[in-house]
Amino acid sequence: MRVYADNAATTYLSKTARDKLIECLDNFNGNPNSLHTDGQRTQEVLDEARAIVAGCINAKNPNEIYFTSGGSEADNQALISAARGLRNKGKKHLVTLNIEHHAILHTMAKLEKEGFEVTYLKPQPNGIVDIEDVKNAIREDTALVSIMFANNEMGAIQPIPEIGAICKEKHVLFHTDAVQAAAHLPIDVQAMNIDMLSMSGHKFHGPKGVGILYARNGIRLTNVIEGGAQERGKRAGTVNVPGIASMAVALKEGCDNMEQNMSKVRALRDRLIEGLKDIPYSQLNGDPVKRLPGNVNWSFEGVEGESLLLHLDLYGIECSSGSACTSESLDPSHVLTGMGIPVEAAHGSLRFSLDYENTEEQIDYIIEKVHSVVELYRSMSPYWEDLQNGIREHCIPEHM
Ligand SMILES: *Cc1c(COP(=O)(O)O)cnc(C)c1O
Repeated sequence: MRVYADNAATTYLSKTARDKLIECLDNFNGNPNSLHTDGQRTQEVLDEARAIVAGCINAKNPNEIYFTSGGSEADNQALISAARGLRNKGKKHLVTLNIEHHAILHTMAKLEKEGFEVTYLKPQPNGIVDIEDVKNAIREDTALVSIMFANNEMGAIQPIPEIGAICKEKHVLFHTDAVQAAAHLPIDVQAMNIDMLSMSGHKFHGPKGVGILYARNGIRLTNVIEGGAQERGKRAGTVNVPGIASMAVALKEGCDNMEQNMSKVRALRDRLIEGLKDIPYSQLNGDPVKRLPGNVNWSFEGVEGESLLLHLDLYGIECSSGSACTSESLDPSHVLTGMGIPVEAAHGSLRFSLDYENTEEQIDYIIEKVHSVVELYRSMSPYWEDLQNGIREHCIPEHM
């Protein structure tokens, strides 16, 4: 059996998105910035995509939607715009979480080198930030709060409407990296007081290499790519119309089917959680309820996540240990350690990210194989032996 359970790393193109991509590649090859007929036909496709995206997140106006090369670029542009735009007003402080995606954390580090001060809030043990901490972190000179909608590794959903309300009250810009949330959780940028929001096509069954930055009217974006005047002068480069049109229909498809997809995926997630619970000295990471419908992140003491992952792959089960972006380094996940999970437990963690294409049969197969693989690696692990002999102390309780 083959089971794809790594949808937080990337999803497969849906049939609707694929059909749209092919249709545009075949029929809309003009440059939307050209004034002739072919250019203008292509421009219409782009306008339509912008309107669809705006509708999915309840943006007031389609001109608040900017297309980028992905979630990373949208994150970079949001932070750089807020920081550089407000610096000459004396604002030089930024607030974020220590469990954000590296597209946020590395951009923050870059801004620190430019003289900005960054507060990295630590979430509670369930992976969710305390809104009091957000409130207390905001200062007179705070330019921006950037807090992710939902975490890509352990799925915790942050209190976005509450944070939006605080930022509005304190007149601080609020950006959220909604790459994992878009098409999976309801998003309303107006009701949630979100000023800027990032999304990525390939995380909701659209193509890779296209993303979206929503920026409320009135926010002055700074270019991260210089050149032509595409995207209202804020993102240079000939626009990838087929990719964008395909991403827009994928987003709409996900939003239109959100209720039914969510309840199906949640049931699969909870079946997997139930099935792994009896493995001793193992635990679910992240809030059990306020988590992405498809996310299961589990730590097993005494084993290496990478070994488990590779062995599960032999059985056809594709999952991840930590996020795909960090899986080439053997450092423990900054997300798990950032929320206070001991390094020993973080090393033995696996992430399953499920989707509506998964089945109950697949979940039961994952449960069976995880049990046997954990047992196998523990039986070969000197570390596990030390735990058994009491030479080392357990950091996860025997039972959840
Ligand atoms: C995948 C991901 C990104 C990066 O998006 P790309 O389109 O791959 O650049 C950013 N943030 C989060 C939370 C993600 O999961």
